[in-house]
Amino acid sequence: MNIHEYQAKALLRSYGVPVSDGRIVQRAEEAKTAAGELDGPLWVVKSQIHAGGRGKGKFVEAEAGEKGGVRLAKSKEEAETMVKQMLGRTLVTHQTGPQGKQVNRIYIEDGTDIARELYLALLVDRASSRISFVASTEGGMDIEEVAHNTPEKIVSFSVDPASGLSDFHGRRVAFALGLEGNQVKQCVALIKQLYKAFVEKDMEMLEINPLVVTTDGNLKCLDAKVGFDNNALYRQPDILALRDETEEDPKELAASKFDLNYIALDGDIGCMVNGAGLAMATMDIIKLYGAEPANFLDVGGGATKEKVTEAFKIITSDPNVKGILVNIFGGIMRCDIIAEGIIAAVKEVGLKVPLVVRLEGTNVDLGKDIIRNSGLNVIAGDDLSDAAQKIVKAVRG
Ligand code: GDP
Ligand code: MG
Repeated sequence: MNIHEYQAKALLRSYGVPVSDGRIVQRAEEAKTAAGELDGPLWVVKSQIHAGGRGKGKFVEAEAGEKGGVRLAKSKEEAETMVKQMLGRTLVTHQTGPQGKQVNRIYIEDGTDIARELYLALLVDRASSRISFVASTEGGMDIEEVAHNTPEKIVSFSVDPASGLSDFHGRRVAFALGLEGNQVKQCVALIKQLYKAFVEKDMEMLEINPLVVTTDGNLKCLDAKVGFDNNALYRQPDILALRDETEEDPKELAASKFDLNYIALDGDIGCMVNGAGLAMATMDIIKLYGAEPANFLDVGGGATKEKVTEAFKIITSDPNVKGILVNIFGGIMRCDIIAEGIIAAVKEVGLKVPLVVRLEGTNVDLGKDIIRNSGLNVIAGDDLSDAAQKIVKAVRG
């Protein structure tokens, strides 16, 4: 689960992390008061969406020369105007996809005078099973680009959980970032605060880009992107309360309500499968035959008629889906029950694209009979390979 920048900053502030003072605005009428509560002489007006690259992003239907989703204002009035310009519009960044994201909240911050922009992140490194630090002098830029073009400018190391974090780690980051004097001390403190927050709040990723050295020589976190481990949210009620469902893929949100494991992807073949392993194999074989899956969807072992219907609704609500492949292994579930579920679902939500169904397992013949006799335009697949080829052919011709 991700949260907004302003929420991340409030959380980090509670750990002592240096961040700017700011106010969140959800309605245009609040802009004036919010800007007036900050001292100036510089205000930063920041679109709050769950995506990075806002500064370089572009609003849909932007006027020529119009600035992106993070803007600097020289007066309260200008800040207020900017809030009104941005609120409710759709911002496209390299992380939102071409459809962009609607800006429903704006964060106004006290502006900082920047001497240097740096990069700092903590993440769970699966290779070492440890928390890793990533630091770079190339802040304010896309870190993937830095990693690609100048990998030597990125320093990364992990923390041994047995011995834990020590001042040494903070000094290592400070050295990598070229910090001096009092900044080193500040960096050691900052690293401790960030690490503590990361562990206590079950974070998966914490990215500060940019971490800045201010013109008066102090460290400050000017941006914060935080992701949490979904499997730990049950013990983080205060974090769960920060969830903004409007930022989530509506299909994934609907799926989570029905306990379906669904992840939207970029392809055009919708998949309905039971079991995560079979779902992965189904995606692989679709790719093998030259097409791309539109989603990962595991309806689970005990898929009921209701779940199958819901899964169908979610798949067909995706405008990219040009064909559907149902690949079900009836182990605990019987194929005839599944077949009835599929037919009920198709009757309820309709079918505008080709549908290939491959059933295997208990009562498979009965299941196939039910589909054949349903009168619906369903193509039967004999095995995984046959079914995948049939759906790819139906979609690609
Ligand atoms: P992102 O584009 O989504 O990563 O949003 P950021 O919060 O990182 O802001 C983008 C850029 O705006 C930063 O890299 C800074 O260069 C600039 N910026 C953000 N806050 C301030 C500020 O307080 N003062 C100044 N001068 N620039 C800022
Ligand atoms: Mg940033």
